Amino acid sequence: MSEKHAEVGGAGLVGLSTALLLRRAGWSVTVHEEADAVREIGAGISLHQGACSVFEHLGLMDRILAAGVDLDASQALSHTGEVLADRALAGAYRQLAIRRQVLIKMLADEADAQGVEVLTNSRVTGATADGVLLLAGGKSRNADLVVGADGFHSAVRESVGLTDKKVQRSNGATRLLIDYDKASGRTVLEEWWGPATRMGIIPIGGGQTYVYMSSRESDRRATQVPIDPDYWGGLFPAVDKEIFQLLSQVQDARHDRYPYVKPKAWSKGRVAIVGDALNAVPPSLGLGATLGLRNARLMVDALGVHDSVPDALRAWEATARPDTEWIQRWSLFRERLSHNLPAPLARVRSKLLQRSNGFRGWGNRGRNFDEQLITGARR
Ligand SMILES: Cc1cc2nc3c(=O)[nH]c(=O)nc-3n(C[C@H](O)[C@H](O)[C@H](O)COP(=O)(O)OP(=O)(O)OC[C@H]3O[C@@H](n4cnc5c(N)ncnc54)[C@H](O)[C@@H]3O)c2cc1C
Repeated sequence: MSEKHAEVGGAGLVGLSTALLLRRAGWSVTVHEEADAVREIGAGISLHQGACSVFEHLGLMDRILAAGVDLDASQALSHTGEVLADRALAGAYRQLAIRRQVLIKMLADEADAQGVEVLTNSRVTGATADGVLLLAGGKSRNADLVVGADGFHSAVRESVGLTDKKVQRSNGATRLLIDYDKASGRTVLEEWWGPATRMGIIPIGGGQTYVYMSSRESDRRATQVPIDPDYWGGLFPAVDKEIFQLLSQVQDARHDRYPYVKPKAWSKGRVAIVGDALNAVPPSLGLGATLGLRNARLMVDALGVHDSVPDALRAWEATARPDTEWIQRWSLFRERLSHNLPAPLARVRSKLLQRSNGFRGWGNRGRNFDEQLITGARR
């Protein structure tokens, strides 16, 4: 039987991982990236065990562990420094922190090593359900499978009419890397909660710390880039002042509004969508990429079971969609809890964070988000 061929639009974390998963399953794959190089934005990322299970399957975990930080614990703190929760991050709850640029380079190098063709300066304009990827300049490519991994604004999703909701939320975050490393012994992901703002401070390796600062978009002083050290220092008086000074000097800080996508369906004919094109979600649980990777793995698994690509894609959606929407609902809820709570309820929220050891939602069929997103043998 001849090798099946896939055309993938978008060389982000999920697009390249999907290409590698397909390649590992015996497909030939071409990836199209509209930028002039494969690169990531947004400083750092935390990867949960669900993402790690996909990278283990791809044989990349040793390299990821060598380049990132296997975090010991996650703490929730009030803006005044009271520790509200302290969760150990191990087993199903493992979390790694890694610089995005390091991770994407690793994926691009692996794609090259595995014979995945990655074309830069190649802009996707759409697709057709019979398996044609449409490219800028009137070019097109035929495939057994077309994958739209082209992010929140996905041209593939729009062209085949799969968008139900695509929302830029009223909250967002600035992400930065600073040369700061005071971790001694225990590596802790700190999540500081102000009344309507949040700060994440995460050791990321190489003597650096990854920081995210989230707020309502209407709070202009909070969304300002470069960041305003006096404003943020006032919001979080117990955070080391040196951090704000270092943050204010970062020139390439990145501010983004939170995204949310709900598709009408996950595929049309031979066209599937993955990653933020499919399931963009506010990062309030830090699960967007993990969810995208898990769904990509389940898609490739389904393609290995069904002879017909459209049948496989329908079976994939039936399996993976309920959990995806469950996690998206909780992410939206935790986003509101972070930024849109009436001020007097902030104390109630602190109690909730204390009682639930960090508040990561309630389980589904006896499983929590982290366990539910693990694929492969450990599932
Ligand atoms: C503030 C913030 C913090 C986050 N933190 C975390 C976290 O800690 N952990 C986590 O798991 N997730 C996190 N996420 C979510 C995570 O970043 C995304 O889910 C993930 O990066 C999506 O990857 P992707 O490959 O689907 O899309 P993208 O990263 O958007 O990649 C899409 C790629 O497609 C390319 N492209 C776009 N249009 C075209 C086109 N027409 N033709 C060709 N190429 C195209 C783009 O240039 C890009 O390279 C966070 C998100 C935000 C906003």
